[in-house]
Amino acid sequence: MHETAVVAGILGILERSASAESIARITSVRIKVGRLRGLDVRQLVGAFEIMAEGTRAEGARLVIDEVAVSARCPSCEETFETKGWNLACPKCGSTEAEIVAGRELHVEDFQGTREASDGA
Ligand SMILES: [Zn+2]
Repeated sequence: MHETAVVAGILGILERSASAESIARITSVRIKVGRLRGLDVRQLVGAFEIMAEGTRAEGARLVIDEVAVSARCPSCEETFETKGWNLACPKCGSTEAEIVAGRELHVEDFQGTREASDGA
């Protein structure tokens, strides 16, 4: 399971972003996860709760937007949702389709409270 590695990466990004924006405590985090990543959402949430302890994101709510896998056919330009790696175009049968969504893995945005000393 690589959920813990993913969460570690997310926490690293959050720490850097929060630090740059003078955010003392992160209250909620939204991430996008494509289905092709094969990540278990519940494990992500569980790992986040444990690993965020002692960081600015401790106690933050983790919201996960799952992105369905979709592909685009270069022959007929049909875009379709697919399950797993079956990329046969439902319209023309071509197997040359390219994945256009489903590989996402990034922090979409997060919210938090600023440091009290922040004059701006
Ligand atoms: Zn097609």
